[in-house]
Amino acid sequence: VNREPLSPTDRSTVQRGKKRAVTDRAALDAVLDAGLICHLSVIVDGAPIVIPTGYGRDGDTLYLHGSSGARSLRTAIENNICVAVTHLDGIVYARSVFHHSVNYRSAIIHGRAQVLTDDNEKLHALRILTEHLAPGSWTHTRPPTRKELAQTSVLTLDLAEASVKIRSGPPGDDDEDIEDNTAWAGVLPITQNWGDPIPSPDLGPGWDTPAHVKAREWKGQPASRQEG
Ligand SMILES: Cc1cc2nc3c(=O)[nH]c(=O)nc-3n(C[C@H](O)[C@H](O)[C@H](O)COP(=O)(O)OP(=O)(O)OC[C@H]3O[C@@H](n4cnc5c(N)ncnc54)[C@H](O)[C@@H]3O)c2cc1C
Repeated sequence: VNREPLSPTDRSTVQRGKKRAVTDRAALDAVLDAGLICHLSVIVDGAPIVIPTGYGRDGDTLYLHGSSGARSLRTAIENNICVAVTHLDGIVYARSVFHHSVNYRSAIIHGRAQVLTDDNEKLHALRILTEHLAPGSWTHTRPPTRKELAQTSVLTLDLAEASVKIRSGPPGDDDEDIEDNTAWAGVLPITQNWGDPIPSPDLGPGWDTPAHVKAREWKGQPASRQEG
């Protein structure tokens, strides 16, 4: 397991807002584990595209998957890609428009993606991906067939070259604006949570909502709010 600090290269070094950069590798794990989807950025035919997609993390490896026909994934293989995971934790209302901000946790990963060709490795990755988005589903549901496996492309991305930025807390207003007391200032936190499960209209008889769906906890909130 790679325990080197984050941001080891030029392109992964935070330049602007350096005080928000976090180089502890555990922070990267926490941002990735708290997220559900990422945004994958790939250059296709000379122009960038950004694709929202699922992911899973196993140690220092990030897995991405999709249809083997997906242009973004095909192009990503052996090429430089960039993946971002973002949590918006609150809107920061300042006394000035200029100092308005957002509280967030975000991670950016740079690297070259590799495609998995070995079926056992693909199955392992698909398990990680499935259990990230829908914990408990890997054992609850039918496993992929050979044909389904062939239709699925799985990419790996090393988490060696990554950065994390975190902003939390109140606005950073100018002293004279605080003195003038002309506006409300503070933070409006934003939270996400699971709703009530909706059984499929074609669900067969005899099903109560299984515990892995019903009892699912929301893990996306920042650490301070999890503690509180
Ligand atoms: C929800 C959200 C909203 C934001 N809104 C704004 C906004 O409206 N205006 C604005 O200027 N900025 C905003 N930011 C911050 C923005 O993401 C950039 O960090 C900032 O704009 C600096 O960009 P840059 O190109 O100068 O980055 P640089 O510091 O030059 O980037 C160099 C490297 O630092 C790393 N890095 C940069 N930003 C991040 C990040 N956010 N998370 C993890 N690693 C990073 C990457 O590896 C990148 O390649 C927002 C961030 C989040 C998460």
